[in-house]
Amino acid sequence: MFYSDSHIHTNYSADVPASRALSVDDICRAAIGAGLSYIAITDHYEPDEVKSGIAAPFRFPEMVQDVLTAKETYKDQLRVALGIEYGQPYLEPDEIQPTVTAYPYDIILGSVHYIPGKPYFISRNYRELTEDERRAIFDEYLDTYNVLVHTEGIDVVTHPTYPLRYLLRQNIPFDMRDWEERLRAMFRVLVERGVGLEFNAAPMRVPNQGIPDHTVETFFRWYREVGGEIVTFASDAHFTAHVGAYCDRTMRILRELGFRYVAVYENRKPVFHKIEF
Ligand SMILES: [Zn+2]
Ligand SMILES: [Zn+2]
Repeated sequence: MFYSDSHIHTNYSADVPASRALSVDDICRAAIGAGLSYIAITDHYEPDEVKSGIAAPFRFPEMVQDVLTAKETYKDQLRVALGIEYGQPYLEPDEIQPTVTAYPYDIILGSVHYIPGKPYFISRNYRELTEDERRAIFDEYLDTYNVLVHTEGIDVVTHPTYPLRYLLRQNIPFDMRDWEERLRAMFRVLVERGVGLEFNAAPMRVPNQGIPDHTVETFFRWYREVGGEIVTFASDAHFTAHVGAYCDRTMRILRELGFRYVAVYENRKPVFHKIEF
């Protein structure tokens, strides 16, 4: 069985403090220990935050050098891919192409982490909002995600259920059926454009307070039904202990949903590996 993890962070990400030792080398050793055959190092780069001075400039040359060194060091045990997680790339579209052509990237992730001028999804108290307000947040999120889905230069779009995980963690039920047609339409665009969809297992590590989280499965059922085939696995690890976490369970879920392959990216192209149990 081929186990991969296409979304992992290191000390080059601003949300990993320097006090938490998490070098590219630490990640590679954790991945080998976890029995993975492929990892992608995908540190956060939020160009809009760098431009506005909220975030420090991204250390591209050092990060790239560390990954290229690791590729060589571990080549007999582990395929190490050079990646990046672009936050809100559609806000700074002119940034994407020059950056990704400057380095030998394997995989470019695109993410929606926030909407400018609005509170971060992760830090909202959804319980003090009305249902209409919560629906409006999800509407706006999907509008933004739809822009991401159309953004040029992105190989895989990440964590599609992002705000829902926080709602569920606060024990608030959410009926996705009202959004089914919109989500299916968005997934059709991914299929037409050949862009991959990430199965992000981070919510599996945080048990919800009362409501089981089936949102990711539901999203992938709809994606499959519109012809979606390019699925990557993501732990979204910010700790060595999380590298590859829940990969096996995710492969079983995907298999049950009818997916036969998991994708990894090399030189910006999907490579498919059979899911077999
Ligand atoms: Zn992210
Ligand atoms: Zn991430």
